[in-house]
Amino acid sequence: MLLPENFEPLVCAPADCGEDAYWFLFDQRALLVSTGDEPPVVPVGAEPPVACGQQQFVGLLAGKPCWAARVDSAQAPEAWVFEGLRGLFNRLHDDLLAVAGRAIQLLEFQRTHRYCGVCATETVDHDEGRGRCCPACGETVYPRIAPAMMVLIKRDGPQGRELLLAHGSRFPTVFYSALAGFVEASESLEDCVHRETMEEIGVKIANLRYFASQSWPFPHSLMIAFVADYVSGEIVCQPGEIEDARWFSLAALPDLPHRLSIARRLINATIAEVAPDHPALEETALRAMQGPLTSA
Ligand SMILES: [Zn+2]
Repeated sequence: MLLPENFEPLVCAPADCGEDAYWFLFDQRALLVSTGDEPPVVPVGAEPPVACGQQQFVGLLAGKPCWAARVDSAQAPEAWVFEGLRGLFNRLHDDLLAVAGRAIQLLEFQRTHRYCGVCATETVDHDEGRGRCCPACGETVYPRIAPAMMVLIKRDGPQGRELLLAHGSRFPTVFYSALAGFVEASESLEDCVHRETMEEIGVKIANLRYFASQSWPFPHSLMIAFVADYVSGEIVCQPGEIEDARWFSLAALPDLPHRLSIARRLINATIAEVAPDHPALEETALRAMQGPLTSA
C-alpha cells in the first residue's frame, strides 16, 4: 500500500472535522464501507454516521481531512457494512485503502499503548499525537514498525530468466511469491536476507540490490524489498515455513501475489527487464487506469 501523492500526513489536526471529511471507522480491524456503491466508499461528511470513540486525525487526502475512530457497536447502519481490509483490495479505491492502512495502524497504537509498559500509569498524547508519554516515569513510545525483508532470487540460464518463488505454509491461497522474513534484533537488512534465504530454502545468493519499500499494515510492518542473484545450493524447504519453492521460467509462472503488494511489483520489475510484454505485467496497469481519487 502506497500513500497517494495527494495525501498529507500532517500531524496537527484541523480545528474542526470539516464538511467533507473522510471517516475511517473500524470495528476491530474491519472498515465501515458502503454496500450499494461499486466501488464501495467510506463515509464522507461533517459527522461520522455511527457513534464512535475518540477520533484520531490521520491526514489530508486531496485537501480533505481524514479521521479514524473505533465504533461503539459492531452493528453497521443500513447500507453500510464492516469489511476486512484484505477483502477490499481491488474494490475500494487504492488511495482510500492506503489511508485506511495508516488509520488502523494509528488506532492500534493508541489502543495498545494506553498504559505505560514500565509502571502501568495511564499515558498521555506526546509530540502532537505522534507518540504516547508516561506522566509518572517519562517513558515515551512511538508507533511500532516491524521491518521485514523480501528478496526475489533470479538466475539467467540457457532457458532464459528464472525466478525462485515460494509458497509459504501460511499463505491464504495457492500463490507463489518472493521470500520474506522479519528482521531480528541487531541484524542488518543484508544479514536478514542472507539468513532467511539460507534458513527457508538453503541456497546462497549474492549481489543484493535494493528495490523499494512499502508499508504493510497487517499489523505494522515495513517491507523492504531486494533482488539478488543465485550463487549455489539445491532448494531445501524449511518445514513449517515453506510448503514449496521452485525455479519458474517466465513462460510458466504460477499464480502471483496481489498487484498492490510490493512482492508483485518486485516480481514484475524483474520480469520486465527481459520481457516487457509479458502478460503478468498487464494486471498492474489497473492502478494507472483507476486514476486519482477526485470525489467519494
Ligand atoms: Zn511509566
